[in-house]
Amino acid sequence: MAEIVLDAVTKSFGDGYEAVKHADFTIGDGEFFILVGPSGCGKSTLLNMIVGLEDISSGELRVDGERVNDVDPKDRNMAMVFQSYAIYPHMTVRENMEFPLKLRKTPKDEMARKVEEAAGLLELTEHLDRKPANLSGGQRQRVAMGRAIVRDPAAFLMDEPLSNLDAKLRVQMRTTISRLQQRLGTTTVYVTHDQVEAMTLGDRVAVLRRGEVQQVASPRQLYQNPANLFVAGFIGSPAMNLMPAELDGRTLRLPMVDLELPDQVMARLDDGAPSKVIAGLRPEAFEDAALVSDAEAPGATFTATVDVIEWLGSEMFAHFEVEGSGAAELQELAEDLETVNIGVGEEQAQLVARVDVMSSAKEQ
Ligand code: ATP
Repeated sequence: MAEIVLDAVTKSFGDGYEAVKHADFTIGDGEFFILVGPSGCGKSTLLNMIVGLEDISSGELRVDGERVNDVDPKDRNMAMVFQSYAIYPHMTVRENMEFPLKLRKTPKDEMARKVEEAAGLLELTEHLDRKPANLSGGQRQRVAMGRAIVRDPAAFLMDEPLSNLDAKLRVQMRTTISRLQQRLGTTTVYVTHDQVEAMTLGDRVAVLRRGEVQQVASPRQLYQNPANLFVAGFIGSPAMNLMPAELDGRTLRLPMVDLELPDQVMARLDDGAPSKVIAGLRPEAFEDAALVSDAEAPGATFTATVDVIEWLGSEMFAHFEVEGSGAAELQELAEDLETVNIGVGEEQAQLVARVDVMSSAKEQ
């Protein structure tokens, strides 16, 4: 068990490039904590500093209150699981899982018990005597996890463990990892660039961009109350619709329609709120006008021409563009705007923009 504290942890590489800038947060004991962000944002570097594979340039890393900046990786009692599995091809599943225990000279009967236990948890019991070459990608990844589990570490550190698996397996393994972490209750730090993985697995998530932590929050808070424009656009699939807008009293003038803001949203706006804003509307804030009436929810109706419809079985995504909400306008606004987060939160349901769909798209 471990509480991991990052206190202004910074990493600069030889050329002076700061890959991680002043990371400041606490990973609670037993927490499933995610580092998420686009490629190159510094998440692997951050994870490697925690496990000790990368030196910390400045700041302090504490595990259970003790400074560990200079503690050797093998003495940090953390188990790392990599994307590439890193299991030995010439060893059986059992031998692979026994390996870290042999290094520690664990008595044979204890070793056998721990391996059997982990194999049971990971549904690998019937494969214990096989070699990795005869296993599927998902099974190999479970062997890698088994090898981490038998060590009974203070924390698991996982770097994109699912990214070599196909989409279906990834979803299955997500559930496996979630169950496992709940059962073991071991502090877990998990790196991914996939925001869906981050949202489904994490108790809390740190969103990184260009080496800087943008927000640390629960998945729900990230979704409902993103700290800035980057988090708003990064979290959510399909992404939030961002568009230039004007705030005039309680009227929010969007490019396609005016919306009256409900009291709860007005209460969060201070007097200094700018009139030029970027409005973010989650896809679910739009309703098909044919399906809702004015009486059901306050809002406004506009007409849009849908050009692409994606049918996914349980849901359907309609894509359309509205004039004046393009990338150029947004970019211009984003450059000279300070972020004022009014938060949509629970009030979102009351802000329904009804779309009168004029479809030019064929429904597939
Ligand atoms: P990805 O998802 O692509 O793995 P990441 O978020 O894990 O990306 P890092 O691997 O942590 O990103 O890299 C962060 C930045 O630091 C990148 O710009 C990378 O080029 C740079 N970087 C990483 N290792 C070194 C190094 N040894 N020397 C110099 N720069 C490095």
